[in-house]
This record gives sequence, structure tokens and C-alpha cells, in this order.
Amino acid sequence: MFFTKMLIPTLREAPSCADIISAKLMMRAGMTRKLASGLYEFLPLGLKVLRKVENIIREEMNAAGGQEITLPLIFPKDLWVETDRWNVYGKELFRLKDRKDAEFCLAPTAEEAATDLVRKEIGSYKQLPLMLYQFGAKFRDEIRPRFGVMRSREFLMKDAYSFHTDEADLEKYYKVMFDAYTNVCKRCGFKFRAVEAASGAIGGSFSHEFMILADNGEEEIAWCDCGYGANSEKAECLPIARTKEERLALEEVLTPNVGAVEDVAKFLNAAPEKFIKTMIYKADDNPVVVLVRGDHEINETKLQSLLGANEVVLADEQAVASVSNAPLGFAGPAGLKGVKIIADLSAVEISNAVTGANKKDYHLKNVNYNRDYNADIVADIRKVAYGDICPRCKKESLKFSRGIEVGHVFKLGDKYSKLMNATYLDKNGKESLIVMGCYGIGVTRILAATIEQSHDDNGIIWPDNIAPFNVVVIPVNYADAKIKETTDNMYKELTSKGVDVLIDDRDERAGIKFKDADLIGIPYRITIGEKNLEKGFVELKARRDGKDAAKFLSPEEALSEIIKIFNK
Ligand code: ATP
Ligand code: MG
Repeated sequence: MFFTKMLIPTLREAPSCADIISAKLMMRAGMTRKLASGLYEFLPLGLKVLRKVENIIREEMNAAGGQEITLPLIFPKDLWVETDRWNVYGKELFRLKDRKDAEFCLAPTAEEAATDLVRKEIGSYKQLPLMLYQFGAKFRDEIRPRFGVMRSREFLMKDAYSFHTDEADLEKYYKVMFDAYTNVCKRCGFKFRAVEAASGAIGGSFSHEFMILADNGEEEIAWCDCGYGANSEKAECLPIARTKEERLALEEVLTPNVGAVEDVAKFLNAAPEKFIKTMIYKADDNPVVVLVRGDHEINETKLQSLLGANEVVLADEQAVASVSNAPLGFAGPAGLKGVKIIADLSAVEISNAVTGANKKDYHLKNVNYNRDYNADIVADIRKVAYGDICPRCKKESLKFSRGIEVGHVFKLGDKYSKLMNATYLDKNGKESLIVMGCYGIGVTRILAATIEQSHDDNGIIWPDNIAPFNVVVIPVNYADAKIKETTDNMYKELTSKGVDVLIDDRDERAGIKFKDADLIGIPYRITIGEKNLEKGFVELKARRDGKDAAKFLSPEEALSEIIKIFNK
């Protein structure tokens, strides 16, 4: 491809709407443009990378036995009512009506449609297992579309659905897909970790996320050298054991106008870990009291799944007052009646704790579990924190890294098949529920995440396998007959060997061509200049190496080096 024939509108400065390095670089490199909030156009260079990633994924899905299909992008409401996700998905679901006022949604994911297809077409155990996958646009009305194509409202996803006769077969296949996702990440050249994850709105019993490690990642990963890794939203917390202390008598203390743990801690000169933080939530409109240690945070995802609720939100002041008889900041578990109390494993371990007294301007000292209060449920409901011990090896402290979730694999079990009555007849002619898995990977997000992980001050540094081109050839002056001849010859040779090459044939200064080549991030650059060529040399440089790493080679040697790298 010739630069002058391709729409590559590079920019010196990023548009002000770009809020993260990858979004800036994608726009500056002429890969994407923004149409409206969370809606992006992919220009030829951007689409080229997208297709390369898509092909790697397609090859791995086919190798895992998958069959490619396409499902509609618009789904009728009825299907989503069957699984109650018409309600559960909430405001993220784009909803629309047709001319007859019938309701639809734009696909945010496609479990319902895939299950519907299979319940109609599959009847016997002989047709299972089956894995169907597609590449398709997904639409989610994100609360905060941001970070360019990383969190957009329309994006490209590869979604896959597998169907099995039983859990054991799903278990086996889940490992196959886990490996396929691992291969995708390796072939795309990522530094990544696969971690245990919470299942979120898709539901199901078990899941892993594939995280690209990057400082700008929205997710936090907790991990240990023993092999444990989890999204910090999901990471298990071991109870922090009680220190041996004699139980003292309960005491009420005046704490005028100080409600927040840090303020009361200062006022009473006590450490925050001596406090029981008492928060009142509404779980699907029912009030619940939640207790964690003063220096810990409540993990609402864990709380929600423990309660099996569709929604948990902090209660408003009025609800707090009606549960605790006191304003915000003065609630405590001692003496509370008629409301469900859920305590974290570490909260009940505190001896002689400080809590609110359910009375304005008062706290209680020396509160002890099983003496001054009880809980309906004691469970792990807090966020993992620095200093926590690994829940698997129980020896090392957990380490934390930031990551970008690019893929998510789930064991769904019979969640969808039960709700949608997707069954098959087993060997004995008995009707059984199909067991399912689902597997998503964000193709557009992969591009942004790769750039977050792989760039420098001058621009993008694409990994070899997904770069828009394998090599850029820069004739310093394409109008010069000898340079043109060498350039054209290289183009012919490289393309005939299947190497994807961009010739920068623009009538621009060499400095501008170098700047754009670095910005676009093509892994190799061959520069053909007059003086070097007279001496029989061209210059070959890898994008990831510094200026000094350039090699001076004959045109034939440069060609064979590139062909060796890309035409394996
Ligand atoms: P997140 O927690 O980041 O919102 P999710 O858990 O909602 O992600 P899934 O429903 O598991 O995401 O979707 C599968 C994949 O689709 C994700 O791993 C991610 O790569 C991609 N993805 C999800 N939401 C978006 C979005 N708004 N923009 C771009 N890609 C997305
Ligand atoms: Mg989401």
C-alpha cells in the first residue's frame, strides 16, 4: 500500500476530547475519529489492526471447535423478558420501538438469542457439545463512556456460546476456551494475566477475566507468586484474627458532631481497626445493616451476590434514621432489632470495638460479638486491601497491579437454559437442561489496551502480529529515479512474500515521514536515502529500538531480514 493512496490523516496534536494516551495516539495516528460520545469511526489504518486481531481470534475459535455465525443486532423485548434481563440490565440497555410500538433492544451481549437458536435447533445429546461464535457490534449505554474505544457505547465483540450435556463436559470445554483465550493474548503480544472474576450482569457460577497489564487500567488485580490471581472486586479476604484481649464493660461515650470513622478515631484516640463501621443498605428495597472493620471497605459486588439481590444501594438519611433512630454516622449493631445484620469475617473478630450507639452524638466502647450484638450472616463482604494474605497459599501478602479487562469467560451452567427452557433428550430419551458457557472478548478494546501497554513519547509500538503493516519503507526522495527503483523493487519483493508493506511515497521532508512512522508504530522501518544508497546501503530499524540501533544493510539483506521475521 502507498501512503498517498490511503486515508491516514495523522495529527500533530490530539483533539481535546481524547482523555487517555491510547485515545490520543489512535486519533493522532489517523486510526479513529469520534462521532459523538462513545461512538467512534474506524479509518482504514484502525480497521486494518482490528481485522488482524479479529483473524487471530477467529483462528483460535475455529481451533477450539467453534462455528462462526451472526446474530441480529436488534433483539425483541420478549426474549429479554424470559430471562428478566429486560429489567436487570437497567439503563445500560439501549431500547427502541418499531413503527407498531413493539419494543426491542440493541444487543449488549447475546445469551438470549444464542440460547433461543439452540433450543429451537438442538434436540438430542448427539448434537452436543456445540460452540457458536460471532463477531458483532455491541451496544451499551455506559454511564461514563470514556477512554476512547476502551469504554465506548458501540464496540466490536467476539462473543461465543457453548452448549453441553452436563457440567463435566462444560468444565472440560471451559479449559479449552481458557487456553484459546490465552493463545489469543500470547499471539497478540500482550503482557497479561488471567484472573478469577465476579460474574456481573451476565450471571453464572464461575468466571475468569483476561487482563492486559497497564498502569492506566480501570481494574485492579490482586495476585500472588503461588499462582493465585483475582480481580480485586472478587479477591477473597481471609479473616484477620482477633488479638487476645479481656472483654471490658460496655461504655457509652459522648462524641458531639463526629460521625465518620476517621473523625471519631481521632476524637477518641483509637485506631480505625478498632471500629466497626456500620452501613445501612437497601437490597432490592429491604434495609440491611452491614458491618466491616473501620479501616476496611464494603465490597458491594460480594454483598449483592451473598444476598442474591438485583441491586444493593446505600440507604438514604431517612432510611438510616428509621433503622438506627439516629442521624448518619451514629449507627451501630448493639441493640438493633428487626433488621438483617450482615457482618464481615474480620468485623466480628474485633475485641472491645467502638461503634455508633444508635443515638445522636454518642458512640459505644467495648462492643463484643456474641455479647453485645449478633449477626444473621457472617461472611466475606469486604474489599481486599494492602497487607492482606493470599487466600490460596495463606503465606505471602497479596500484590496488586492495574489491568484492562479484554476478555471474560464464564461458566453459566443452566442459568439461561432453565429460564428459557432449552433442553435436549439424553441417551435414555429423558429431557434435560442444556448446560452453557459464554466467552466474550472486546476486539476494539484490545486495540486501545495494546497501545496503553506499548507506546513511547513518539507514538504507538505495535506488536508484530497485529501491526497495521509489518514494515514501512521510507524513500527519502521518491522523485529520485534510483531511490524510486529500489523502493518499487522492495515493494514487489516484500508483497510477493506476503509481507504487508507501506511505502511512504509522500512528497514530504524525511523528518515528517519519520515522525509519522513512529507515531503509527509499524514495527520495522527501511529508509532509502541518496547518500547511503550510493554506498550500497539502506537503513533498517525496529520501532521498539532507539535511533542508535539502526543497521546499515544492502537492500537485499534488509529484504531477507524482514522476510525472515514475517514470512515464517
Ligand atoms: P467492564 O467491567 O469493563 O464494563 P464487562 O464486564 O461489562 O466489562 P463483558 O460483559 O464481560 O464486559 O464483555 C466482554 C468484553 O467486552 C470485555 O472483556 C471487554 O473487552 C469488552 N467491553 C465491555 N464493555 C465495553 C465497552 N463499553 N467498550 C468497549 N469494550 C467493552
Ligand atoms: Mg460493563
